[in-house]
Amino acid sequence: MNTSESNALAVERVRHETKVRRLQVLHIEQVSPHFLRVRLAGDALRGFVSASFDDHVKLMLPAQPGTPLVLPEAGPDGLALPPGAERPVMRDYTPRRFDGEAGLLDIEFLLHGDGVASRWVGQAREGDEVGIGGPRGSFVVPTGFDWHLLVGDETALPAIARRLEELPETAHAITVIETADAGDRRALNSRAHLQTHWVRSGEVSALASTVRALALPSGEGFAWAAGEAASMVAVRQALVQGHGMDKARVRASAYWKRGSVGHHETLGG
Ligand SMILES: Cc1cc2nc3c(=O)[nH]c(=O)nc-3n(C[C@H](O)[C@H](O)[C@H](O)COP(=O)(O)OP(=O)(O)OC[C@H]3O[C@@H](n4cnc5c(N)ncnc54)[C@H](O)[C@@H]3O)c2cc1C
Repeated sequence: MNTSESNALAVERVRHETKVRRLQVLHIEQVSPHFLRVRLAGDALRGFVSASFDDHVKLMLPAQPGTPLVLPEAGPDGLALPPGAERPVMRDYTPRRFDGEAGLLDIEFLLHGDGVASRWVGQAREGDEVGIGGPRGSFVVPTGFDWHLLVGDETALPAIARRLEELPETAHAITVIETADAGDRRALNSRAHLQTHWVRSGEVSALASTVRALALPSGEGFAWAAGEAASMVAVRQALVQGHGMDKARVRASAYWKRGSVGHHETLGG
């Protein structure tokens, strides 16, 4: 690989100005048994950018169900809550689709049951208010790799679906996606050459054992993975130890952790 090729494959980290935006629910659509797509709208969305499928926004919900939504505001020392206000509930979600000019943002929520955000979306109505913060930064993976491996559970499905829509027709993408309910599998749109493996949830190692058994193509590849914390540790091991992938070509993140609230961690080392 010469220098210009290696530069073209360098991951880019982009910082964005942190903004908090107050938005309204415009529309809610059932995508599959456990997925709701919520279209958020508002003038505050003008200028919204999300440079990578790996991005997240902080979704902000009222501190207590049924109470007014109080959001942090820009002040002399940065963002702060008004004195005495209770911090809103904050959870990370992927900007699935957006139109900064029209002021629209789609987020796809998994109805996993036991959580403030999951319960909120199950009861959300048009006109309900939410806040979003960020994205504060983006991890931009070049599209020019010879192959792209995308691995995850339902929480990663919005990011994977977005990435597949963004990849060019010259790309080769391999997906390994775990769902608890086969009804949540969906048609994935991509111009790229696409190989899809659906995995049924079971033991922690279900995703990892499928990844370990893959015959990965030759050439320069990048693996992106997101899902439950223990499962992601096993997937990362399958990639780095099992397939001998360079750690710099693997991005594995915990998007949630069994028994923890609002967990987010990028795995490394
Ligand atoms: C960068 C990033 C992007 C994300 N993008 C999306 C997205 O686009 N769509 C999406 O649906 N989720 C996404 N997630 C995952 C989402 O943030 C978590 O599932 C979050 O915990 C949900 O908040 P909650 O209030 O419903 O549950 P919490 O209050 O955080 O958790 C309550 C309980 O539910 C459990 N729990 C949390 N998530 C799950 C789950 N998926 N399955 C089973 N049990 C769970 C927790 O372990 C805890 O015991 C993303 C996470 C990150 C870090």
